[in-house]
Amino acid sequence: MEDETARTARGPGRRWRRVAILLLGLLFLDGAPTACRAVLRYPGVGRKPLTALQREIPLNPFILTNLVYRKLLIEVDWVEGCEPAPKALAALERVARKYCPAGKEIGILRDDEIPRKRWEEAMEAEKELGEGRNELAQHYIGHVPDEATRTEVVYVLYSPRPAAGEAAFGQSESWSVERGGRIVNVTGLSVFKDPVRRSAHLWVTADRIDAMTLVHEFGHVLGLVGNPAHAQLHLPDHCRNPDCVMTHPELRSILYHAFVGFLGARLPYDYCNQCQQDIRDAQRSWEARAAADPAFPHRLSAWREAGRLNSEAWGFWRKGSREEAIESARKAAALFPDWERPHGTLGYFLEKEGRTDEAVASFREAMRYDRAAGLEPLVRLLIDQRRYAEVVELLRDGSWRGMTKDYENRRYNFALWLAFSYDRLGRTDEALSTMRGFVPDGSSDAYADMAGVFTASLLRRHGRLDEARRCLDQMSRRLRKGNRWKMERARLALAEGRREEARQLLEEVASSDRAALPKYKKRLDSTLLPNELGLSLALLGRREEARGVLAELEKAPEFPAERLALLRAEVLALLGDSETAIEALAPLSGKKNSSWAAGVCEDEDLASIRSDPRFTEMFPECRPPLPLPAPSPAR
Ligand SMILES: [Zn+2]
Ligand SMILES: [Zn+2]
Repeated sequence: MEDETARTARGPGRRWRRVAILLLGLLFLDGAPTACRAVLRYPGVGRKPLTALQREIPLNPFILTNLVYRKLLIEVDWVEGCEPAPKALAALERVARKYCPAGKEIGILRDDEIPRKRWEEAMEAEKELGEGRNELAQHYIGHVPDEATRTEVVYVLYSPRPAAGEAAFGQSESWSVERGGRIVNVTGLSVFKDPVRRSAHLWVTADRIDAMTLVHEFGHVLGLVGNPAHAQLHLPDHCRNPDCVMTHPELRSILYHAFVGFLGARLPYDYCNQCQQDIRDAQRSWEARAAADPAFPHRLSAWREAGRLNSEAWGFWRKGSREEAIESARKAAALFPDWERPHGTLGYFLEKEGRTDEAVASFREAMRYDRAAGLEPLVRLLIDQRRYAEVVELLRDGSWRGMTKDYENRRYNFALWLAFSYDRLGRTDEALSTMRGFVPDGSSDAYADMAGVFTASLLRRHGRLDEARRCLDQMSRRLRKGNRWKMERARLALAEGRREEARQLLEEVASSDRAALPKYKKRLDSTLLPNELGLSLALLGRREEARGVLAELEKAPEFPAERLALLRAEVLALLGDSETAIEALAPLSGKKNSSWAAGVCEDEDLASIRSDPRFTEMFPECRPPLPLPAPSPAR
């Protein structure tokens, strides 16, 4: 994944494909935190409908009923210096007692103090292995859920701050630990003391923010807020009612409460009436269900076991035991088939194994239970297989426009995928009308950037140069300073025969990327990768410099080989060295599961070599060649 960020990819097709894949990674990442993620600015165009399973089990039945567990043990550990405020633990105990059903035995265990040094080591491991806090959990969790003693466990970890330096006060967690040779899932949460302390001021003390955060994150553990009637539109899982502890604890709300606090009110340490109603409604429906259906507790247990198997599958996958991973995911899907996640996990594994047809079947199965969750990976897979007609078939009805709940920018992905597929099928007008309404919308971020530049390149490649120019001109001023915009504008200028304008833009791109190159080589951070350097130099006709850049990148360790192969071929093809350009593509030939290889057929920079018989021999799937005009260098 380290290679697949918005800024690293280039070329109108691949560029958004990389971002799309990055976004996809968020979908099936097992145990990803669910709460308090960054707020996205885009207006949702609709709300994703709840799945049947979400309607059946809208909240956490393992805590809110006694059907599976009768005891709730909340184990609290803290890193040295991050001890939980007694006020916070008292507030947590109060809500736990208030919302758990009668007869539930509840205990809060202040357990281990974790040495600061130990936490620092874990954060180092986070950078290398992505383990971090979970690694601490693996070591320090003293209790795990146990159906024999009917005990559910919530593991709370107080630590200084999250790994990526986000400003969140806390987040809900899905801990995944190994006990007795098997993977066990434990629900829980983190509270981050540094931001909590930093935000304290006047009467809004750190202890009060601690208490509010703990109760808020525990609310996520309970499954709040899933009810669209009062969830925040742009921030699912959070309550619209500003007096509710489940409102997003951002600064604005802190200030709001500070102001109200001044008038004698206080920070909320409880869920609002609507959230309470959700809890009672769920409890009532579960009771009725259990009375009518004695197997219901077993169904809940099976769901939990499927979750465990799904985590186990990912554990195997990360260790490289692929067959075992597939086996565990299959078991999970068979045990609890109407949950989309194991189908998605299985599809992901099968796709990576090159078992495309089976992967397609798994994604289609996931779609039956959660259309958005299955649709996205399925479409991406079909695009990589160049099965554009099927993509159009899946997306033409526009129902993806309502699938914005999990990740709002996904609407850009679907629009781009559909437009891209139409374009590949030669249906340019439909491609353009798909993009209408997305660009330019005055937005000023990577997604608007991609959508705008993609649309302009579409217009340009079909000879509609005036419209392409208008499209680029309408993009925000900030985006027009970016290299992606400048490259497309330069290509347009070349197509229009405005060589001087193109030359100037390409010089700007080359010099800014030139400045970025040493930084990239030093840190090997793919977001710093000077994407356009080789190409801008090649389009400028600066042969020796362009070759020099290729040589430098070759020396950079960890530079993805397939990507370098493609870049090298593009630069050489633009420089007119057909022979070496074709040779450079060898590592991509016959690659079935590579987005880089899939991009070869449509790459406009390779237009000059595409009709070469050696090229068609290496990439028979590219026939018939698409009629793309070759760019002509500025000099
Ligand atoms: Zn939250
Ligand atoms: Zn609420």
